[in-house]
Amino acid sequence: MGRPTIRPDLSALAGYHSPQVDVLIRLNTNEAPSAPPDGFREAVAKAALEVDWHRYPDREAWKLREAIASLHDVDPKQIFVANGSNEVLQTILLTFAGPGRKVLTFEPTYALHSHLTKISGAEVVQEHRNDEFELDPEIAVAAVKRERPAVTFLCSPNNPTGIVERRETVMAVLDAVNEIDGLLVMDEAYGQFADWSAIPLLSDDLPLVVSRTFSKTWAMAAARLGYLVAPEWIVDELEKVVLPYHLDSLKQAAGLAALDFVGDMDQRVSTIVEERGRIVAHLSDLGAKVWPSGANFILFRPPAGDGERVWQELLDRSILVRNTASWEHLDGCLRVTVGQPDENTAFCTALSEILGATL
Ligand SMILES: *Cc1c(COP(=O)(O)O)cnc(C)c1O
Repeated sequence: MGRPTIRPDLSALAGYHSPQVDVLIRLNTNEAPSAPPDGFREAVAKAALEVDWHRYPDREAWKLREAIASLHDVDPKQIFVANGSNEVLQTILLTFAGPGRKVLTFEPTYALHSHLTKISGAEVVQEHRNDEFELDPEIAVAAVKRERPAVTFLCSPNNPTGIVERRETVMAVLDAVNEIDGLLVMDEAYGQFADWSAIPLLSDDLPLVVSRTFSKTWAMAAARLGYLVAPEWIVDELEKVVLPYHLDSLKQAAGLAALDFVGDMDQRVSTIVEERGRIVAHLSDLGAKVWPSGANFILFRPPAGDGERVWQELLDRSILVRNTASWEHLDGCLRVTVGQPDENTAFCTALSEILGATL
């Protein structure tokens, strides 16, 4: 008669909440605003006909790893691929965190880092950024030395703030993590928008890994594909933990096909950066507090700090942005993803109307 109970350490866990509402303009999940090129879709359709559907996929996903490796000028053995970077992060945590271990985050940051940590059975330790959402390297280093976490997360550009982590901060944290035999995970889901990446810092004797995704810049959120660039020995450990054949054949082919369109991706990035500038200027003109973004989204606080009302009034106009107004640290703030030019114009116009009414 009774129901089985879930693990007691998970009973207070809330699921991942990002409402999928049916609206005309969706600027809430940092997806790319347009589909990948036709040539990509044709290549995937062709690959679907050629897949050996009765056979298990290449377990090593070797061709895809070779192609990703050449993109970053590293060895294919340094690449671990998975179903979205969320599965990359989960595999890291199952391998290096787990019961009896700690994982350090610097809030506010990507909620999944804490969420996946708890699912792994490890303890989340949160240190905090200042009011401008910058990370003080001394505070970060002290936290690492005090807590001795098995895994430390940094996210650059950081979600939901958009801020690119300073190189000096990353170096200082990496030194401290190295000293305590921990692992530093750099989440670079928006790496292509930033002016620097931690990938060139990777070395066989440094405890640093960098995760990337096809969900954002590559306009492939539907495909669920992400990867890690890491020292080879770390990839070997992850391969022991992840499910065998976890990456299906069609997805491997889709990833390979995408890498033939690097030029289109670069073009998309520069269009988005231009549009981002236009939205930031408009938000500032309206008197909103805007944090400097190195990503494809912008965190802002409306002038009266009434993010909740502004979010609702945007939704009334069929424009959905991320409602972060009640999140810890983000009081009254909203996060808007850069969309297509006409969507951004619609967002700016709507915001002028909504805020004009109270000016
Ligand atoms: C969107 C996002 C991801 C992406 O996850 P996928 O599973 O690859 O779709 C990872 N990290 C951050 C910080 C993100 O914002």
